[in-house]
Amino acid sequence: MILSDAAISRVVHEVLAELGKHPANSERKLAGSASSERKSTTLASSERKLAGPSQSRFGVFNHVNDAVAAASEAQRALERQGFEARGKAIACIRKICIEQAEELGRLEFEETRIGRLDHKIEKLIVCGERVPGVEFLKTHAYSGGNGIALTEFAPFGVIGAITPVTHSLPTLACNAINMLAGGNAVVCNPHPSGARIAVEGVRRFNQAIVQAIGIDNLITVIAEPTLETAQAIFDHRDVKMLCVTGGPAVGRAALRSPKRAIVAGPGNPPVVVDETADLDNAAASIIRGAAYDNNLLCIGEKEVFAVDAIFDDLLAAMERHGALRLKPAEVDRLTKAAFVRHPEDASKLVVNKDFIGQDPKVLAEKSGFGLSRPTELLFAETDESNPFVEQEQMMPFVPFVRVKDVETAIELARKYEHGFRHTAILHSRNVDVITHMGRVMDVSIFVVNGPCTAGLGVGGEGYLSYSIATPTGEGVTTPLTFVRERRLAVRGSLRVV
Ligand code: NAD
Repeated sequence: MILSDAAISRVVHEVLAELGKHPANSERKLAGSASSERKSTTLASSERKLAGPSQSRFGVFNHVNDAVAAASEAQRALERQGFEARGKAIACIRKICIEQAEELGRLEFEETRIGRLDHKIEKLIVCGERVPGVEFLKTHAYSGGNGIALTEFAPFGVIGAITPVTHSLPTLACNAINMLAGGNAVVCNPHPSGARIAVEGVRRFNQAIVQAIGIDNLITVIAEPTLETAQAIFDHRDVKMLCVTGGPAVGRAALRSPKRAIVAGPGNPPVVVDETADLDNAAASIIRGAAYDNNLLCIGEKEVFAVDAIFDDLLAAMERHGALRLKPAEVDRLTKAAFVRHPEDASKLVVNKDFIGQDPKVLAEKSGFGLSRPTELLFAETDESNPFVEQEQMMPFVPFVRVKDVETAIELARKYEHGFRHTAILHSRNVDVITHMGRVMDVSIFVVNGPCTAGLGVGGEGYLSYSIATPTGEGVTTPLTFVRERRLAVRGSLRVV
């Protein structure tokens, strides 16, 4: 048998990889000529820092094939080390998220220029504290007259992750905790506008993990991500599963892949307020949720349907709690500036990207008016046809629509959630209304009498994830989302009682 240079090179690469010697140089040769490689400044500088005897890459790669090869090798090494190593690796990610939140949050804010610095920092801290890890994987045992059966949870292998610009490093860190808990490794294609912070986070995570358990590249990232590198991850034979977090286009792209895809898609969370609600709590909650990171959260309150009986009182409560009410002329200006014609279909509106995640003051300035005082959140009464109601707008302005009764409010909430089955919020003390809306909305997260963040265990019970799998139905993702169930059945023995 005659082997081509490429085949020989591949075999050498695999053998070296298996021996744990995977040199960055051989990887470069395999990947193509040095001149064909594109590098970001961040990558170049981090590589310079990394150039040492170990020649470790700390997870940062230019080419998908190289990232997948390194992640595959790392995943096999993790399996060899056993269950405890997973916990140690995850502890490294948690520690960095918590202890370096301020610096990393600032870097993310400076790169993406959307959202709020205080919440960029908080998102990393709560990620470190509240995303579930190995403790979620509990073996199920069945024991009876016929013997025993065990259900255990095995890794898929290498998982491809696509992350959004709205929470670049928090999503990557959260996915990594869940996926490593399941014994997997990760190849991440971040949003191009949040890639530098993703690279920085991955480098730090791997450096710490190498120190803790001696395995590099359990989390890998493409330094200059593009749609093509995302597609290459979708198509790669050694990527066994996908987890995409983003808007409709990436969700559709992942669902076209023959691989199992966990799709955390868009939302447009409606809020219903009925006549039994505690209006101060409702107002404070709406402000807390919708102002969070300037309304970038996919679970964030995007439009409110409130019944006529309490409508004016609710608006007064919003003002009491610090939100700023816009005049009708200001709403008109903001609406005209914040939405633009769809480039391919002029009959449709789309969100003006320059407005996404900006401070209230900036929204007003860009729309040609000033604010009478500083505020976290703008709001106003609008009618149902205002595009702020229909569109997932991701801005700190919330439209309030007056409705005659709670039935109508729930019906409109269902309509404008668009069947995403993502998140809905209700303020009510009527258990029948709570039950009815919960059934009608059929969403992954239904929050009652709190801010949206309570639905992810922040100020509420339960655990956190930044990937809420909506069209594919896994809901708030956990380590159990990223494992294969395997059963051991022993017939006629091992039952010792
Ligand atoms: P986006 O859809 O523009 O980008 C998300 C990711 O997908 C990016 O990495 C992007 O590069 C990639 N991408 C986009 N189109 C692609 C394609 N055709 N093929 C391959 N990759 C593609 O979204 P965004 O602006 O970064 O994030 C905001 C959106 O994400 C909102 O719609 C929000 O609701 C959603 N989101 C959902 C969740 C959730 O848990 N369900 C969490 C966060 C954000």
